[in-house]
Amino acid sequence: MNAEIMAVGSELLLGQIANTNGQFISKQLASIGVDVYRHTVVGDNEDRLKKALQEAHERADLVILTGGLGPTKDDLTKETVAAFCGKKLVYDEAALHEIEHYFERHNRVMTPNNKKQAYVIEGCTVLANRHGMAPGMLCELEDGKKLALLPGPPSEMKPMFVNELLPKLLGATEHTEITSRVLHFFGIGESQLETDLLDLIATQTNPTIAPLAGDGEVKLRLTVKHADKNEAARLLDETEALIRKRVGSYLYGYNETTLVKETFLRLQASGLTIASAESLTAGLFSSELAAFAGASDVLKGSVTAYSNELKQQLLQVSSATLASDGAISEACALEMARGVKTLYGSDMAISFTGVAGPGVQEGHEAGTVFLALLLPGGKERVYTLSLSGGRNAVRMRAVKFGYFYLLEELKRSNGSK
Ligand code: ATP
Ligand code: MG
Repeated sequence: MNAEIMAVGSELLLGQIANTNGQFISKQLASIGVDVYRHTVVGDNEDRLKKALQEAHERADLVILTGGLGPTKDDLTKETVAAFCGKKLVYDEAALHEIEHYFERHNRVMTPNNKKQAYVIEGCTVLANRHGMAPGMLCELEDGKKLALLPGPPSEMKPMFVNELLPKLLGATEHTEITSRVLHFFGIGESQLETDLLDLIATQTNPTIAPLAGDGEVKLRLTVKHADKNEAARLLDETEALIRKRVGSYLYGYNETTLVKETFLRLQASGLTIASAESLTAGLFSSELAAFAGASDVLKGSVTAYSNELKQQLLQVSSATLASDGAISEACALEMARGVKTLYGSDMAISFTGVAGPGVQEGHEAGTVFLALLLPGGKERVYTLSLSGGRNAVRMRAVKFGYFYLLEELKRSNGSK
């Protein structure tokens, strides 16, 4: 299925607001494997809207419109779409009831033009609005194509899209439900992941597999259509196993989670403490950990040692190492980690030293980072990273790698996957 998104509103054309609805819907459609080929923005003008609608309908299987469903004169999306489909507007008793109820709840008197919002296009499926008044609509046309109408305010549009429209697009009925599972990966790029799973993504239909990118991490959403919850879980497990076989080593979590959260939970379960020695990251690692309630159980503390003098004074980095290898080196990273471990008496330690950029430092390119990890039992690991991106992206990504390596080690020592 391919789709186009049409945002209606003169405010958008005047530059007073940005079309964030288009972005949200695109992202959502991408996650269920619907290709979005075009975004259109049209003003509150009947003729131009009609023209744009004709064109979009010709090209796309699904056209989603947002905006112009309200009670005022300039809200003309519904009327225009009805005329385009050759359908009448009819009163929807349930919608009228909802609107009256909305006014009661908010202790306001209902003006006559609000009744207009209870009109829907004849024969359409009404999408309930739980956060406002104007109902949305999904119209199936004679040629099999679909038109969806959603309200303009994002606070109404988003929940309506996710809770009302999305299940219908996925073919949910009274007897079938849609269940999703999101798999989180780190340490593998989006394009590599897609390449490794190309055939699965192309051929799997239940569940479908859709890549989601963002925040320097990669996610996959598995979406299954089913009549039975146990069967759904079995189908999701089966597909997950296929994915694990190929890229399982990068998989770190499920659904609403983050790398830091997973690491924090593992740390907590392990009963071990950690301290960080941070140069280019200047406290980012410890700051992220401190965001969780209970961080004091696992985080002993952190030293931000930006200058070489402080690396020596606070962390006992030797002048010989600074002279021979420099501050941006494996040797310095190791000594920083050993220094903070001794200083704070923690079970484990992590350190970061490198070049945030822009520009070369001590002969190292921007994005070069050395990361040392000291584990219980005297195990020491050093990693060299070549990160891309601007100054802050490098700092953030260095920290994410730190969490990733730490999480891997914690999993290994727990004897689990
Ligand atoms: P209302 O009942 O509030 O009039 P509506 O469905 O008629 O809703 P519009 O009048 O077109 O929608 O827009 C209402 C508000 O929603 C706008 O002032 C704007 O703040 C927001 N909005 C509309 N379209 C978009 C969009 N494409 N992206 C982001 N916000 C939007
Ligand atoms: Mg309006």
